Amino acid sequence: MTIINFQTATFLSSAPSLSKCPPDEGIEVAFAGRSNAGKSTALNTLTKNKKLAKTSKTPGRTQLINFFSLTENQRLVDLPGYGYAKVPLEIKKKWDINLSNYLRYRQSLKGLILMMDCRHPLTRYDQQMLDWSSQTDINIHILLTKADKERNNALNATLNHVNQFVMKTQKPLRTVTAQLFSSKTKLGLTQLEEQINFWFQESSQF
Ligand code: GDP
Repeated sequence: MTIINFQTATFLSSAPSLSKCPPDEGIEVAFAGRSNAGKSTALNTLTKNKKLAKTSKTPGRTQLINFFSLTENQRLVDLPGYGYAKVPLEIKKKWDINLSNYLRYRQSLKGLILMMDCRHPLTRYDQQMLDWSSQTDINIHILLTKADKERNNALNATLNHVNQFVMKTQKPLRTVTAQLFSSKTKLGLTQLEEQINFWFQESSQF
């Protein structure tokens, strides 16, 4: 089994909508989450590259789908943060369409890492994401982020609660899993790497 070196991730391109995305070939793992959930920090932690997600936060790129290549056939994708209160409704609606189109129709998308602040998981936006992706066979792995901010008892209770919730959304061809994560302490980093490696590996066998 080839272990992916996430440090090799380099910015490839940005797209405002599904039709402007790079050719739909190879395998993608996308990162999504409510604005401020810790998505950029998690991407930087995974790739050990502090500048990586800065690329996605560059003004003008925050509402775009940002692609990073790992190898010729493997990409990480940073989806814009959702649920940001200050965005005008019209833009929100447009973005909802772009996001749901990407989730529904992108053939190379094999896994979605869905980030939720461990102190406020399963917001209605998160549930909407789960709902959109339940119409596809994309596997989802939830990161309960900023785990360094909570005590163990509370963390375990949250993880149980999220696991119970997602059990209801399981389907034969897709799985939804969850773990605790902290960019600060690196809690759960190995588990995250293994999950993404597994998706890339599993998909390249077909
Ligand atoms: P994004 O909007 O989802 O990309 O969120 P960011 O990655 O920019 O993080 C939002 C805020 O949460 C920033 O102030 C980060 O420093 C902080 N943050 C992110 N990850 C962690 C973490 O694991 N632990 C703690 N304590 N703070 C974090």
